[in-house]
Amino acid sequence: MRLYDTAKQEVVDFSPGPVVTMYTCGITPYDAAHVGFAAMVLTYDILQRRLRDLGHTTQCVRNVTDLDDSILEKARQLGVNYLDLAAEEMARIDDNLKALGIIQPFSEPRATSAIPDILGFIGMVLESGHAYQAGGGVYFNVDSFDRFGQISHLPRDTMLQLAAERGGRPDDPHKRDPLDFVLWQPSLPDEPAWDSLWGPGRPGWHIECSALALRELGTTIDLHGGGRDLVFPHHECEAAQSEAATGETFVRHWMHQGMVRLGGEKMSKSLGNLVFVSDLLKEWEPTAVRVGLLAHHYREEWEWHDSLLPDAADRLDRWRSAGRGDGGLTGVREALDDDLATPAALAAIDEAAAAGQGVSEAAALLGVDLS
Ligand SMILES: [Zn+2]
Repeated sequence: MRLYDTAKQEVVDFSPGPVVTMYTCGITPYDAAHVGFAAMVLTYDILQRRLRDLGHTTQCVRNVTDLDDSILEKARQLGVNYLDLAAEEMARIDDNLKALGIIQPFSEPRATSAIPDILGFIGMVLESGHAYQAGGGVYFNVDSFDRFGQISHLPRDTMLQLAAERGGRPDDPHKRDPLDFVLWQPSLPDEPAWDSLWGPGRPGWHIECSALALRELGTTIDLHGGGRDLVFPHHECEAAQSEAATGETFVRHWMHQGMVRLGGEKMSKSLGNLVFVSDLLKEWEPTAVRVGLLAHHYREEWEWHDSLLPDAADRLDRWRSAGRGDGGLTGVREALDDDLATPAALAAIDEAAAAGQGVSEAAALLGVDLS
């Protein structure tokens, strides 16, 4: 199988061992699941289905960020406890993903489950000499880590701009360098706080994923995924602190999902331009939503369009009429092995169905049950 590697900036062989360890950054559960999130989860679902088809076992961890700036802010606005908000939204999100037939994650750990792991991890980073204490917090010293930039390959001014846009607070006066990032921070008066060697506080954004990946999967993982907007600063920072703490390679392969846009802007909770999975499921069968999302390649950035689901429903009708059989299966496997080319996989099934072959097995490899 060949896949595009964000860090290497090219399509490379992806040839893991019998057990494939994967970590994908999950959701901050303060709102319902939107199609951008569903498309991302579906990408790693399809990848796992093909890897299992090839005889591998997959272990895909998807964390739940039930503690960060955005969920605390939303809970503050609603006047509810952040953990109640997270539990309620997670139940809705899980229902949506189950309806779409998404493979259950190997584990789905919560940030709040990881406080002891995070404290230990920060201790390791401090011990490595790549972090410092200031103002009641602990910061990663970017200047001390040569490989900072190994995933995003961005120039410094772009890094600074993205850090400012994405909650990295480059103007924090306690930082030695504006690109330094927080591992531990003092909590505001109305925020949750845990005791630590460095004073009471809460974790920084990136540390949760490093601590959870290490706890759940070990030092080096085969593949790390997430939305492309996480490449910088989130994944760059994760990799830096993990490799500083363990001295080992953190991730062998980085795989990122392109953004879905609506109204010309990235679909995001912060902008509010969202198409919710739950709304689509009121009108369309879940399988049509699944097939619709697969019509765009995972690396493509695409604009949401209203013909997507009617087209997918028509396609499903044609596949169902074709009946049972293994038509198109070879073509689907070849397409998935070519950087997970799901549009080509759908086309292979279309072609087989049009030629009068049954396509149930090829559809099943995409998680689509035609019976
Ligand atoms: Zn993450």
